[in-house]
Amino acid sequence: MPGGDDTFDYVIAGGGAAGCVLARRLLERTDGRIALIEAGSALPNRWLGTPLTSVRLGRWWHSWPFETVPQQALHGRRIALPMGRVLGGSASINAMIAQPALDADIAEWGAAVEGWSPAALAPARARAFGMAGVAGVAQLPLAAPAFRSAFSEAFLAACGEGGLPNEGLLDGPDSVRCGYYPLLQRNGRRFSAFQAYLAPMRGHPRLTVITGKVVRLTLAQGEARGVVVAHGGTRRVIAAEREVILALGALESPRVLMASGIGPADLLRRAGIGVVRDLPDVGERLADHVRLPLLFHSGQTSPARLWRLPGALLRRMAGRASVLASNCCEAGAYLSSGGAGRPDLQLITHFQSVADGAAVDIELTLVRPLSRGRVSIDPAAPDGRALIDPAYLSAPPDLERLVEGIGMVREIARRPALAAFGIGGERLPGPAAVSREALARHVRATATTAFHPVGTCRMGDDDAAVVDGRLRVNGLARLRIVDASVMLSLPAANTCCAVMLIAERAAELMT
Ligand SMILES: Cc1cc2nc3c(=O)[nH]c(=O)nc-3n(C[C@H](O)[C@H](O)[C@H](O)COP(=O)(O)OP(=O)(O)OC[C@H]3O[C@@H](n4cnc5c(N)ncnc54)[C@H](O)[C@@H]3O)c2cc1C
Repeated sequence: MPGGDDTFDYVIAGGGAAGCVLARRLLERTDGRIALIEAGSALPNRWLGTPLTSVRLGRWWHSWPFETVPQQALHGRRIALPMGRVLGGSASINAMIAQPALDADIAEWGAAVEGWSPAALAPARARAFGMAGVAGVAQLPLAAPAFRSAFSEAFLAACGEGGLPNEGLLDGPDSVRCGYYPLLQRNGRRFSAFQAYLAPMRGHPRLTVITGKVVRLTLAQGEARGVVVAHGGTRRVIAAEREVILALGALESPRVLMASGIGPADLLRRAGIGVVRDLPDVGERLADHVRLPLLFHSGQTSPARLWRLPGALLRRMAGRASVLASNCCEAGAYLSSGGAGRPDLQLITHFQSVADGAAVDIELTLVRPLSRGRVSIDPAAPDGRALIDPAYLSAPPDLERLVEGIGMVREIARRPALAAFGIGGERLPGPAAVSREALARHVRATATTAFHPVGTCRMGDDDAAVVDGRLRVNGLARLRIVDASVMLSLPAANTCCAVMLIAERAAELMT
């Protein structure tokens, strides 16, 4: 039996983007004792607050080294899919691009699930990011990029030469346009789920942060009673007197459900796990954005070259804008393949390609993919890593739209403003890749993830949904899921704001 020290009112498993937001709001809105359980470091390093170092290094040093199973449409390659493993989760290592204007996407959720329309979400959105016409103080006021590279300036000018509207910060994919992305930053430093929501609550008498890996749920009589946590060779049970909330992200929440006997009965039986609740949709409908590097020789030296960094540090210490505040991808555009309809392609500028320091990158992302995959436990090794299969480009139109997008990027790269910047020969896919077949080969050989997996425990009002509109797990009491996994569809934009919005809404629904 758990001792008093291990018993709380709410147990939140996962201290990532959603977990930090939810912990804060439950402290404010209830009188409950809260345990926040996080496998990674309980104190994000100082350098994770410095944008340049955190986006370059965070994903290597503070992440779960997940990778996909071989992807058939990508020449059988396994794709690295790291996710943040530190308090703040992926929001502590991500590129800080903030996309809160997702009305078209959220309208889809609202049409299918009661309580999730843009109007129903407006108070939560205003609390998180601020919203015109809705009163209140935003927890995460969006920032314009403090550092703007010459390459981004030239890229936006080139977009303008082609008639693409530039109407201030590019805060969502609801129309075709270009601009600077708003960032989750304050004073040139990362200001995201951990810094904005959780850090001010550290030391709160009702908040306990526990370091350890959540192995499975404890369940009895159809309800969640707590979680089993492993740390340093020991295991302990953390008990919840009111609710357990899974906030482990789209790859781990379904795995922990399955390890606890909640999921597709056939698979659980093959893995030797006792079936508590047959929920065939657990792990299904994994959706992710596919991105593609498009490299051009750069006529100018990157502002992030190593020998330039001491100068940048001095400028930062003098309180001036420096490349250290850069998220390395500050500008971009939303385009529509076929030229009509809602944007389905996103461009992001990189003033220095990671693969080739002498090249700039106009990265192309397919933001409305049709392909869907799954996450499942491995029946041969149920305690090991999950099998992650996003089935990238398994829907043929996804490949065609990326091929078309390459042509659109090439057209922008030929415009006078980028010629004046000194953009030179195309490095990738290279001038020899002209035919549709050659471009398709390039896509298959180089496409990778934009790190936005969602949808593996989708919400819905139907019987097959994993969670209902109040995010309660179907058929089990005192158990909710609050993270990227509950999304009904993948937003056509970077996903972090959508996750934090879900957590803000969850707090309303729970209290
Ligand atoms: C490299 C990278 C760049 C990105 N760039 C952007 C961007 O610029 N803009 C944007 O909007 N989105 C971006 N994203 C996506 C965004 O960060 C995620 O969509 C969002 O953080 C997901 O939130 P979450 O709460 O569902 O999961 P996470 O934030 O990943 O949090 C899950 C937490 O649970 C913990 N956890 C997992 N399993 C266990 C376990 N078994 N036991 C205990 N703890 C566990 C993890 O360590 C983590 O802290 C990026 C993601 C990555 C990885």
